[in-house]
Amino acid sequence: MASRFSGALQLTDLDDFITPSQECIKPVTIEKKKTKTGAKIKIGEDGYFDISSGQEQKLQKVEITLADCLACSGCITSAESVLVTRQSQEELLKVFSERKYTDNKGVTKSVSLVVISLSPQPTLSLAARYKLTPEDATKKLAGYFKSLGADLVLDMTVAEDLSLLEVQQEFLERYHNHQNDPTAKHLPMLASSCPGWVCYAEKTHGNFILPYISSTKSPQQIMGSLVKQYLSKSKEVNPSEIYHVTFMPCYDKKLEASREDFYSEILSCHDVDCVITAIELEQMLNNSGKSLSEVASSELDWPWSESDGHPAIRRHLGSGSGGYADHVFSYAAEQLFGESNAPLVYRNLRNPDFREVTLEKDGKEVLKFAIANGFRNIQNLVQKLKRGKSPYHYVEVMACPSGCLNGGAQVRPSTGESSRELVTQLEGLYSQLPLAAAGGGGLVRRLYADWLDGRDSDKARAMLHTRYHAVEKSDIALNIKW
Ligand code: SF4
Repeated sequence: MASRFSGALQLTDLDDFITPSQECIKPVTIEKKKTKTGAKIKIGEDGYFDISSGQEQKLQKVEITLADCLACSGCITSAESVLVTRQSQEELLKVFSERKYTDNKGVTKSVSLVVISLSPQPTLSLAARYKLTPEDATKKLAGYFKSLGADLVLDMTVAEDLSLLEVQQEFLERYHNHQNDPTAKHLPMLASSCPGWVCYAEKTHGNFILPYISSTKSPQQIMGSLVKQYLSKSKEVNPSEIYHVTFMPCYDKKLEASREDFYSEILSCHDVDCVITAIELEQMLNNSGKSLSEVASSELDWPWSESDGHPAIRRHLGSGSGGYADHVFSYAAEQLFGESNAPLVYRNLRNPDFREVTLEKDGKEVLKFAIANGFRNIQNLVQKLKRGKSPYHYVEVMACPSGCLNGGAQVRPSTGESSRELVTQLEGLYSQLPLAAAGGGGLVRRLYADWLDGRDSDKARAMLHTRYHAVEKSDIALNIKW
């Protein structure tokens, strides 16, 4: 299969493969031959050749859309091999120069506002690559995107705050529902912010696992709703004329952005139009012969009216994947058991990527949380669930070993540096970031009041939550046309 991959897409870290892959089921029309021995395929430098007949016949080039990938269970979640033609660096540069884009439905729209949302992990990846402080790397990135034509460069802290608050609330609801009906699938609640994991769950374990997965949207998609549904109003721009780009640590985020669930029929647009990763940005700089260090700096934008905020890439306490387990644990300990400063002491299980933390009350274990990173640990967790032996109330599940700081599209280690050394460096940089305000700041409060009609409203549910869909194997089989 040949395809139009972004130049940076490549098979690299196979550690986050889920299972031995089935073959891609993208249908192609081939001429059926009467042969007893089957087809012989030769891999040439410029494609694949059928040599069964004694003559070389070049095989048809297959183009894969995101929808094909999402409808298939045969591909690999970390999306190394996913064709994302509308989310490539080439496409992004074209949008900057032409100020128009073609959406996933094939409709071309003009662009009046280009908004870039930066997440912490790829920003730190570039800081490490170019030996910059996190603050300098942020400003250089803002300057770089602005030099290309971005109108606004934002940090995603507010979306991360909203995601954490919603997850905390959702956990309490599930906990109470579980008390009322322990047989229903309310607990353990499983994290939802990693599309690699969600995609795997949908394709491989379907309706068995999906009820456990938190309905709260990931920060990327909350940022998407915020930009298209809220910022568009204050900027008086048609949402479909906003081209929203997120800067993320993995290709899986491209798949997430392209989900139909995140397309608004009313606004005729996706919440996020393009995802660019750290490694793609490094390649864009290389292609233009630049180092990030020599790019002119610019401040992040702050298009919100609150004066209490000031834009910066921030961290949340806990893991470098967003700190979900820590936040939910602390909140639940306080709300359910009156423990306002419950100690968070993790114990490694089989490896440091599977660790758990417990809260004891009167000698009894009342909360048991875990962090499971990487597919080996995810499979162990799923097996425990299937055997009815999961002891957990909540699990922060992330597809990449070591979590998002080690995302599949972060800049690779430099020569002589091991992946472990690089991740340790990124963890160090993450711990230097300024802390986000606990519980979100004034902006978060106002968004709940003004935009979302309060917490627990239908609007908050619509903007901040989503649904998942099992992909049935039988449906996949029906798609195969030979
Ligand atoms: Fe992406 Fe983070 Fe999931 Fe890795 S763990 S696939 S970086 S969201």
